[in-house]
Amino acid sequence: MTAHRPTTEFPGHLRALYARFAFDRSLADDPISVIRPLARDDRRAEVAGVFGATLAIGNTTAIRGAIEDLVARAGGDVARLVDPGWSGSRREALSSFRHRWIRGDQLDHLARVLTNYYAEQESLESAFLDGWDRGGFVGGLDMLARVLRGSGPAPRGYRALFPSPLEAPRSPCKRLTLFVRWMVRAGYPDLGAWRHVPTGELKVPLDQHVHWIAYHLGLTARRTRSWAAVEEVSEALRRLEPIDPVKYDFVLCHTGISGDCPKERDLSVCGPCSVRPDCLLWRRRGSSR
Ligand code: SF4
Repeated sequence: MTAHRPTTEFPGHLRALYARFAFDRSLADDPISVIRPLARDDRRAEVAGVFGATLAIGNTTAIRGAIEDLVARAGGDVARLVDPGWSGSRREALSSFRHRWIRGDQLDHLARVLTNYYAEQESLESAFLDGWDRGGFVGGLDMLARVLRGSGPAPRGYRALFPSPLEAPRSPCKRLTLFVRWMVRAGYPDLGAWRHVPTGELKVPLDQHVHWIAYHLGLTARRTRSWAAVEEVSEALRRLEPIDPVKYDFVLCHTGISGDCPKERDLSVCGPCSVRPDCLLWRRRGSSR
């Protein structure tokens, strides 16, 4: 179905969207804006990234507020969350925390899992690479989910915070995939705390905004978000930008969040949109009005 394939001019249009995008405007609205100042070294980048991605549910204002609340409870330093010397006070400090359905006891457990992991390993990249060796990106993400779930008793609902793309219903795993993007990409605005995973192999964190525009640009014909849709969108972007396909994630996501894309046919907003000739809303009914 041709309507679900990108137009031949799409690569140039997407590059124009990227080149003209107001990164600084949207960075202030993105969770990475509160994570970047915390990432004073690779360990802090990783800890801030894990907790930040775990909290990445809901609108960006609420997510940023939740991260700031968590860090304030840790005295302003995310490294404290995984400091064995603070583990006795941590439970009480986090006990009243709440963000959507995520509770403080779950974050306390995550901190305990990470503290135990860091007693043996320098970085979660080791776990990711261990899974990667057996199953590529999907294997890496699966291993990351397994490590973060930990073993033994856990608070109610804790393990469901870390779905694996290898398990039914094959979730898009947006939050873990976003965490890996932050860790692997060194290009703005990401953190580049991991050094061994090639950026060309990354998968797109498929949130509702990215899925909406990816569907309407013909990068996937799947109407629901799933791991299969993640694979299709990532492959379409990889054909366009083999070395760094996920660099477009921030722009596609914030085109939706910022209101640059109304998600309906509105010439007053869509007029200057670089990808309007590719957008299904306009291709279906002609592009004159
Ligand atoms: S043409 Fe309009 S609806 Fe389509 S992607 Fe661009 S801004 Fe969004």
